[in-house]
Amino acid sequence: MEKAYEKVWSDCLKVIRDNISPNSFNTWFAPIKPVRLIEKVLTLQVPSQFFYEWLEEHYIDLLKKTIKKELGSSGRLEYSIVMDNSLRSGQSGPFTIHAPTLNKKALKNPPINMPLDLNKKADDGKSVPNPFVIPGLKKLNIHPQLIDSYNFDNFIQGDCNRLARSAGLAVGQNPGKTSFNPLLIYSANGLGKTHLGHAIGIEVKSHFPEKTVLYVTAEQFTNQFIDSIRNGNQNDFVHFYQMIDVLIVDDIYCLAGKPKTQDVFFHIFNQLHQSGKQIVITSDQPPVEMSGIEPRLLSRFKWGLAADLQLPDLETRMAILQKKIYNDGVEMPAEVLELIGTKITTNIREMEGALISILAHSSMNKKEITLELAAKTIEKFVRHSPRELTVDSIQQSVSKYFDIPLEKLQSKSRKRETVQARQFAMYFSKLYTKSSLAAIGSKCGNKDHATVLHACKTIKNLVETDKRFKKYVDDLKHLIKMY
Ligand code: ADP
Ligand code: MG
Repeated sequence: MEKAYEKVWSDCLKVIRDNISPNSFNTWFAPIKPVRLIEKVLTLQVPSQFFYEWLEEHYIDLLKKTIKKELGSSGRLEYSIVMDNSLRSGQSGPFTIHAPTLNKKALKNPPINMPLDLNKKADDGKSVPNPFVIPGLKKLNIHPQLIDSYNFDNFIQGDCNRLARSAGLAVGQNPGKTSFNPLLIYSANGLGKTHLGHAIGIEVKSHFPEKTVLYVTAEQFTNQFIDSIRNGNQNDFVHFYQMIDVLIVDDIYCLAGKPKTQDVFFHIFNQLHQSGKQIVITSDQPPVEMSGIEPRLLSRFKWGLAADLQLPDLETRMAILQKKIYNDGVEMPAEVLELIGTKITTNIREMEGALISILAHSSMNKKEITLELAAKTIEKFVRHSPRELTVDSIQQSVSKYFDIPLEKLQSKSRKRETVQARQFAMYFSKLYTKSSLAAIGSKCGNKDHATVLHACKTIKNLVETDKRFKKYVDDLKHLIKMY
């Protein structure tokens, strides 16, 4: 039988449905669940903070009128927010917002039980608490600095991340006990390194709550180190890090050109590694290509596993977008999601940025989310993101430049000019794409990975010794990026 609160809400919905467009109704009202009615206070469960704010912003008058109509002049509304991934909240579990007045002021001064500083990006080194505290501090007190929503559940699996994801999961379930120590995750910007790093930490915490986990950016690490020198408590700094069971250091390349910081990190690394503690590192490059990092540190990075995150394919991009809107409790026409997923291909952060902008845009201008609106917003993102280079597009540029037919580049021909042009194509494919050596080889005359490696070395050597080759490379760099 229908409960009283269900009846009240379904009556409200009838009124609301007559007053707004079907699309808006489905997006903003269909996901709401009534949870209780106590003395004329109807409590509605909404999926996220974002959702609540949107209702307050756009439908406040309609809601007020409808509630008064159904419950009389003393009728009131309260919201219960179930999950709040949109804010990357440190708080999980339900909490209730009392918004009896339903006015905009309440938004600007959120209720006290909502963490206030969550809007700040956790990437921003300044907004997270400094974990480097004082000597004698208790192990338990170390704040792990993990972002709840960056968990494995929310990390969509695809061909692009299979190895890194499963290695991360293994490490999370068995820290320090796998051969993936250190685990180094590398990729271009915006492809999930930070997310995966946090997910490992969260996984460890869920299996071993007693373990001390710390996520820290290399930049924070550096700043803490500099502070410790200034304050003369360098030993405390080192001791602090020795207490960690699972250390996750994000964007290690920030240590490039900082020999003293690298030095102290080297010692901390050794200590932790020797005592079976887990280390996770992220970077924008594989160890072989990291410049400005001392060889002895690089050699340590090679002890474990280096796994990369590649560009996600369309299917994975769509799955990520769908998960995102589901978590945020919003709905979007399927064709709009598809447009985002097909247009933004090289950076997941930008893809999410476009999604958020489209929502914001339609909210600010009180417009429905249409394909046209979406296309306009996406255009801005696409224009600013560098185009994706592929082995094919590189081959085409090389073919044009040397005036050698594409088919020859892709053939096994041993003619000298062709071999050389093919080597350029391999060299630039390695430089500009995420394709593996084997994948590049298979597209360039069905060669194996050793041939591609040899080609890259040959071109590098020739560039250093032969002016003509230097010019070829410079010209080609231009051409490839223009094309
Ligand atoms: P990076 O550290 O490599 O620059 P991030 O980890 O910050 O990238 O990821 C950028 C955004 O993309 C984040 O919001 C993250 O949650 C999201 N993201 C990346 N990879 C995935 C994935 N496989 N599934 C779901 N979301 C992802
Ligand atoms: Mg990152």
